[in-house]
Amino acid sequence: MSSISATGFLPFHRADVGDDEIAAVVDAIRSGWLTTGPRVKEFEAAFARYVGAKHAVALNSCTAALHLALDGVGVREGDEVIVPTMTFAATAEVVLYQRARPVLVDCEPDTLNIDVAALERAITPKTKAIVPVHFGGQACEMDAILDLARRHGLAIVEDAAHSLPASYCGRTIGTLGDVTCFSFYATKTLTTGEGGMATTDSDDYADRMRIMSLHGISRDAWKRYTADGTWRYDILEAGFKYNMTDIAAAIGIVQLKKCDEMRRARSRIARLYTEAFRDVPAVRVPVSRPDREHAWHLYVIQIDDAGTAVSRDDVILRLKEHGIGTSVHFIPLHLHPLYRDRFGYRAEDFPAATAAFSRILSLPIYPGLSDGDVANVVESVKASIGRPR
Ligand SMILES: *Cc1c(COP(=O)(O)O)cnc(C)c1O
Repeated sequence: MSSISATGFLPFHRADVGDDEIAAVVDAIRSGWLTTGPRVKEFEAAFARYVGAKHAVALNSCTAALHLALDGVGVREGDEVIVPTMTFAATAEVVLYQRARPVLVDCEPDTLNIDVAALERAITPKTKAIVPVHFGGQACEMDAILDLARRHGLAIVEDAAHSLPASYCGRTIGTLGDVTCFSFYATKTLTTGEGGMATTDSDDYADRMRIMSLHGISRDAWKRYTADGTWRYDILEAGFKYNMTDIAAAIGIVQLKKCDEMRRARSRIARLYTEAFRDVPAVRVPVSRPDREHAWHLYVIQIDDAGTAVSRDDVILRLKEHGIGTSVHFIPLHLHPLYRDRFGYRAEDFPAATAAFSRILSLPIYPGLSDGDVANVVESVKASIGRPR
């Protein structure tokens, strides 16, 4: 199957879903159990085994997982939570859900992961938690971050939306911080359409997240309707409606089985790109540290102004003319009106992220890309950079 659509356009992403996922969804619907049920339980168990965590709590998004994780570790009104500025909206907005204050921190110029020295400077007596984002699928400097957390008594909630599967110094992402949150959004490395998972080794955090994911009710709804359940339940708190459906879990179970294979395919594409751009001075390829296994959710090049007169924005337009979809990850949070106006952040407070933002460009990287597609992207990038306007 070619990844180029009938219109000849190579999309930025296409999920690796097919007949097996379709059959699993049909089975789920035929079973008569549509919402949270046996397939969610099976997916949670398989996922916990896969990353090596004691608990996995399936939810309807990574945003929900991040929210419940912050609630679980005790982030409350008035607390500060440290978040990288180089991330998606969800990472910081969940801090606002808890009426706490997101404290933005700059990134490393090469990996675009959170800068640990800047992180340390941002810690105050009000800091309650740190939310490292493993940018693009490469783990942050977790030993240094875990050490800071220990010394200052802070919780670590990892935003692992990009990093299934990934590891840091031989330890799997999903087992390092207090809670780790994964995304199964349509463009992520494993998809259920929409969905998320929180992993933790803590019984208390897992219990609390389960209760808060379903209206603050003290037992799973699906148990209420089975032989070993009863109709009785207790509402303990004002919770949320964040549970995953069995239809979504059916897709996730199939996807998880091919997770390693899909990573190998992305990893190979990353190698092809890096090799092909080796002698293109205007293209800085992503830096991957040798002590960690990269999930390669994103392949982010930086258009080096020294090597070309063409701006990143122009490269995007030219690639579109070549029939290639690209994206930008991310517009740093401090440049958005919400954070700029409400918290007074300025571009110059985050020199690395602000500079990177004008250069970054995400190229297509997914298992359905053929070698011909990859070569086409490479040639089109070269051509786009090569003819200054
Ligand atoms: C996609 C993404 C999320 C949100 O995931 P959802 O499952 O869509 O809620 C959070 N953080 C980062 C860094 C992401 O890229």
